[in-house]
Amino acid sequence: MTTIFIYPDRCIACGLCNIYNPEIFNYHDTGIIKFTTTSQNQLIIEKKHTEKVLFISHKCPAHAIILKEA
Ligand code: SF4
Repeated sequence: MTTIFIYPDRCIACGLCNIYNPEIFNYHDTGIIKFTTTSQNQLIIEKKHTEKVLFISHKCPAHAIILKEA
């Protein structure tokens, strides 16, 4: 499993994470990142590792998505 941490205070609302992986990443009305399937302010989830998650964590220009392998 992979633990995914999001840091909304770093997010610049570019939208890339939602475009590439909408089943995990969504955004508030302000464009700032949140998880798609959790409560509004949850900042950590665990998911089965996927290449898509790894890809977007590297692509995020603000380093607002950090992964930690279990
Ligand atoms: S890719 Fe990064 S900067 Fe862009 S919306 Fe997602 S978390 Fe924010």
